[in-house]
Amino acid sequence: MNRVNLLDFDLPGLVAFFESIGEKPFRARQVLQWLHQRGADDFEQMTDLAKSLRIRLPEVAEIRPPVLGHEQCSSDGTRKWLLEVGPNNRVETVFIPEDDRGTLCVSSQVGCALDCAFCSTGKQGFNRNLSAAEIIGQLWWANRALANKVLANQTLAHGFDSKNERIISNVVLMGMGEPLLNFENTVTAVSLMLDDHAYGLSRRRVTISTSGIVPAMDRLRERLPVALAVSLHAPNDALRDQLVPVNRKYPLKELMSACKRYIVDGPRDFITFEYVMLDGVNDQPEHVEQLLHLTRDISCKFNLIPFNPFPNSGFKRSPSERVRKFASQLIEAGKVATTRKTRGDDIDAACGQLAGQVEDKSKRVIKRMELAA
Ligand code: SAH
Ligand code: SF4
Repeated sequence: MNRVNLLDFDLPGLVAFFESIGEKPFRARQVLQWLHQRGADDFEQMTDLAKSLRIRLPEVAEIRPPVLGHEQCSSDGTRKWLLEVGPNNRVETVFIPEDDRGTLCVSSQVGCALDCAFCSTGKQGFNRNLSAAEIIGQLWWANRALANKVLANQTLAHGFDSKNERIISNVVLMGMGEPLLNFENTVTAVSLMLDDHAYGLSRRRVTISTSGIVPAMDRLRERLPVALAVSLHAPNDALRDQLVPVNRKYPLKELMSACKRYIVDGPRDFITFEYVMLDGVNDQPEHVEQLLHLTRDISCKFNLIPFNPFPNSGFKRSPSERVRKFASQLIEAGKVATTRKTRGDDIDAACGQLAGQVEDKSKRVIKRMELAA
């Protein structure tokens, strides 16, 4: 018999599982706490479950996190973990410590099918969606790695520091992949991030970043509205079609309407627009003018991301003076604009540098050759 992986379940899923084996629903809450708050990886650790249940569970269920590959630490404190998700496939997770928070950047797919021009993950092609266990497993592992060992009767909850503050206070789905194209598994994992029996993060501290999959933005708004970042990168359709090819399917007019709808139900009263700064491509004064017009009636913040280069990308990072000017032009017009600090680039952990290892199933390289022929 196939054993189910308990890390694949959020609370309703685990309740259904326990009911299916004739157990009471409250077992789900107990087990969720063991798995996610105490980092248990063995049913024997779950000392408040009846002995008979502890013996029975391993026959029908398992606790199978993704396999941890190697870990790298940057000189600025950023840490990156490689997770093995099947033969020749690896994804990456990054922890970014700051004075007032600790942010974990989580991957949602092995590679990405959307092929944005400036993105190293996109250039790797696409293999498959991560399971819910593989998505939440990144938080599970990072908590463990950051919080030392798991002890059944420790006084400090797993994942908290000596001041009893969460080591990982924020999660961003900004690693490898397009989370909204792996909708159900992402929603299950995010619901664990929010659940008080699991990680208990607020909706404002969990951010999904999307390249703009309009129908899925609406579904997320209805199902589980968390903070939303939209990868804009261009102020007009002609340029965005080039940089973010999915724009041909969901052009800016539709995307902007979806953003407005999202704000109504989302936990924040603004949308974050990410904008990667590419030298001579999208960083000119006229682009600011167009951006201001495009977003004139949307409550939003701009997060400018200096482009992080990777081999053969064909792009250069905008000079810092140009980024500064771009930001101040936005600010002078009354918008909020911040510039993302580049973190962890000495270990290739900065935005867009995550490459992991992807056995491409999309045959993109062949398609590109066909296009060039
Ligand atoms: N697929 C989602 C989330 C993952 S990408 C999305 O596109 O939003 C996370 C962020 O990193 C996106 O804003 C993406 O555009 C940006 N990014 C990708 N490649 C980059 C690079 N080389 N330098 C800087 N940012 C990059
Ligand atoms: Fe995919 Fe996001 Fe990279 Fe585009 S930027 S290829 S959507 S991961």
